Amino acid sequence: MDAEHMGEDLERVLLTEDAIADRLGELAVAIERDYAGRDLLLVGVLKGAVMMMADLARALTRDVEMDWMAVSSYGSGTKSSGVVRILKDLDGDVTGRNVLVVEDIIDSGLTLSWLLANLRSRGPASVEVVALLRKPESIQVPIEVAYVGFDIPSEFVVGYGLDYAQRYRNLRVVATLAPHVYAT
Ligand code: IMP
Ligand code: MG
Repeated sequence: MDAEHMGEDLERVLLTEDAIADRLGELAVAIERDYAGRDLLLVGVLKGAVMMMADLARALTRDVEMDWMAVSSYGSGTKSSGVVRILKDLDGDVTGRNVLVVEDIIDSGLTLSWLLANLRSRGPASVEVVALLRKPESIQVPIEVAYVGFDIPSEFVVGYGLDYAQRYRNLRVVATLAPHVYAT
């Protein structure tokens, strides 16, 4: 789905398809350099990170493994609750592995902070984070993020995996929604 297919629901495009692809290419280069000679396990956080995982993994010129977790923190609203539940755990063991968590967005940071503590308790060799988006003004807990695609203003965004009430994940760009969408 492109911006033109959103009709009146779209307010503003923040990131084009090209901008996202270019930045993921840069992140892939940095990741390859940093993990040279080490195994790498990409852990995608469902469902928002699906598009990013697919594109980042294919931008790499080395072999990686991929695993997935699903956690819930939001319900269907637009504010983080800080209460995190594991809806789907990893299929594999991360003991001794170099884990790189692939996240769509860091808003309050509450979800990721909980997830990192959970993963670190499992005895991995390392745990780092690559996030496509970060909202610096919204962060409530200090988190070290090794790789960030873009810092954006504290506005709710959709597209490229990110949803509002499970919609707009298949939009190619990252955009804000028109106010009327939230009113219904
Ligand atoms: P946090 O716990 O506040 O950092 O929120 C983490 C999760 O909330 C992200 O992984 C997203 O799934 C969701 N989220 C946060 N901000 C947005 C947004 O602007 N659009 C869509 N989802 C968001
Ligand atoms: Mg997410």
